[in-house]
Amino acid sequence: MTTFSFEFFPPKTPAGERALWHAVRRVEAFAPDFVSVTYGAGGSSRERTTEVTRRIAAETTLRPVAHLTAVGHSVAELRRIIGQYADAGIRDVLVLRGDPPGDPQGPWVPHPDGFAYAGQLVELVRSLGEFTIGVAAFPERHPRSPDWESDIRHFVAKCRAGADYAITQMFFDVEDYLRLRDRVAAAGCDIPIIAEIMPATDIRQISRFAELSGAAFPGELAHRLDAARDDPAEGHRVGVAHATAMAGHLLAEGAPGLHYITLNKSTAALDIHADVLNLSRSLHAR
Ligand code: FAD
Repeated sequence: MTTFSFEFFPPKTPAGERALWHAVRRVEAFAPDFVSVTYGAGGSSRERTTEVTRRIAAETTLRPVAHLTAVGHSVAELRRIIGQYADAGIRDVLVLRGDPPGDPQGPWVPHPDGFAYAGQLVELVRSLGEFTIGVAAFPERHPRSPDWESDIRHFVAKCRAGADYAITQMFFDVEDYLRLRDRVAAAGCDIPIIAEIMPATDIRQISRFAELSGAAFPGELAHRLDAARDDPAEGHRVGVAHATAMAGHLLAEGAPGLHYITLNKSTAALDIHADVLNLSRSLHAR
């Protein structure tokens, strides 16, 4: 069975809060397998992750997955946060190392009493009780990995430390996902790798995200989105059509799940999902 899930981020303003809960309620009507809430680089946004995740668990029918990073935390703090999740009934954690705060491409300096890699945090969460644990996967290789061999070796070790599944970084070429899956399988690891789907509807926003994540953005799609720079309806149509085609290809190739980034605006993700559900039905009807 393919899983369908959606990603939100903790909002900073009252208007952002309203947009988030509107999006959560719209997504809830589609009964996804889970929704996830990202973890900020520091400060109050981190408390908002805990709060949003707790509210989703308490006030909706959705299964929330809390992202958690090792950035700026001692092991003692990480234990306390994981304990807070457990107390709130949250047993699903997406475990990440995180990037350096401020400049994500800057040097990575672990907390002196913390962890250097996500695999260590996976081991900690696993040791603290019954959790379902997700980890990150990188179809174009982690930007800090010097080569594919070490990237796959560390990814497989992180999975073997106790991960149940992985979710990819955003990508725009299905072949990158398929090559990653083949490399992981060749290393003897059969963890389900859920594909992240980023609706690319606005050239300004997507250029920034692609730059931050290191994901290569196809020239043809960039060109079409650029032509629709001042026409949001056309940008939406172009982005939804591209993501739906990608999702259809992924499903036909047997991807175990699709994880949609919502940016707390459910419309594009749900339009893609509605089209994907139709595709999925026709695939199963064959
Ligand atoms: P790791 O698995 O630790 O890997 C980082 C690098 O270290 C890789 O190059 C790896 O090969 C190498 N490595 C791993 N283990 C070892 C080892 N034992 N020895 C030597 N090298 C090693 N960031 C946030 O801040 N908040 C979020 O909510 C968030 N959500 C995300 C969700 C998804 C689905 C994805 C894909 C990423 C997300 N990120 C988030 C970004 C993520 O934190 C960064 O991409 C980060 O740089 C990598 O995290 P990781 O967990 O893959 O790190």
